Amino acid sequence: MSPRSYLDFNATAPTRSEVIDAVTKAMQEGGNASSVHADGRAARARVERARQQVAALVGADPAGVIFTGSGTEANNQALRATKCERLIVSAIEHESVLQARDDAVICPVTPDGLVDLEALQALLAENSSSTVVSIMLANNETGIIQPVVEAVQIAHDAGAFFHCDAVQAAGKIPVDMMALGVDSLALSAHKIGGPQGIGVLICRDPSLMARFVHGGGQESGLRAGTENVPGIVGYGVAAECALVGLDNFGGLANLRDDLELRIQELEPNVQIIGKNLDRLPNTSKILTKGLTSEVQVMGLDLDGVSISAGSACSAGRVEMPYVLAAMGVPEELGLCAVRVSLGWTTTGEDVDRYIEAWQKLYDRKIAET
Ligand code: PLP
Repeated sequence: MSPRSYLDFNATAPTRSEVIDAVTKAMQEGGNASSVHADGRAARARVERARQQVAALVGADPAGVIFTGSGTEANNQALRATKCERLIVSAIEHESVLQARDDAVICPVTPDGLVDLEALQALLAENSSSTVVSIMLANNETGIIQPVVEAVQIAHDAGAFFHCDAVQAAGKIPVDMMALGVDSLALSAHKIGGPQGIGVLICRDPSLMARFVHGGGQESGLRAGTENVPGIVGYGVAAECALVGLDNFGGLANLRDDLELRIQELEPNVQIIGKNLDRLPNTSKILTKGLTSEVQVMGLDLDGVSISAGSACSAGRVEMPYVLAAMGVPEELGLCAVRVSLGWTTTGEDVDRYIEAWQKLYDRKIAET
């Protein structure tokens, strides 16, 4: 049995061995993808191959793929460089969307954690001129899959541009950019076993996007800076592995459901957010009244299990997670939420270890009360 159980794939996934090999080789090969000589042309060929591999993961046209320095940068570019005056974002977006501009209008979510489509329609009816709507495909905290196709329809009917943050969804569920109908999509390599610090913004019509990082003419003039060839190569390999492994990833729902069942057998009052909704197969948001997220994360860590609280900790104070606040979850419960996220390395033994460690914490809490 491995010394630790890593159950925090939504924070970052372990780098795949195929990626490490490919990145190492690309670093040894070197070359600037903008150089005209043979070394440069070879680097360019590696970048273009990766562009195709990443596009294939989400059914996109490789011509619309812009490599960026992260998923955060991709979201920032989409929302700041589309030349739209008005921005509507859902209340449960990642900070890289919520903080991209300080004039965003917030679209609420239902108590189930789904973007409120009637509210979106009303916001667009107020004013939809020069507007970009940004709604994620799957939430990073709850794993709940959003009604993006319906939201795109509403946005397009009102003449708005639609951006989708698919950072958590790509490689975990099938994603088809064309079928979704979105105008742009943000992805990140490290969530699927690629290197950290590489993402993409994919545009259906790159002519609608302005340059975000200024300097040289790389990435069709839309993102200046010498391409991170090893990182891009690694991303391409990770995308290919993720596409091949999509069915197996879907099978993680069995392990995840087993974990949830066993926790609820130990304590029937434990709440699982979005249990009956369409969720990412690897994600579980678990609320245990009376057992704070801080105690759970630290206690499990000591027992060799890595999970996340999903609540920001600033100046020593654990804050209510804004995603749960937006769903109307009471603070006393929100402060007791943890996120468990599985991946391709997860085994039944990892689930056993989680359950044992959790039970120890829970028994201690019972003994204290
Ligand atoms: N969007 C979502 C939904 C995420 O979960 C994350 C990372 O946690 C990001 C965007 C940002 O991606 P990156 O870490 O590549 O900046």
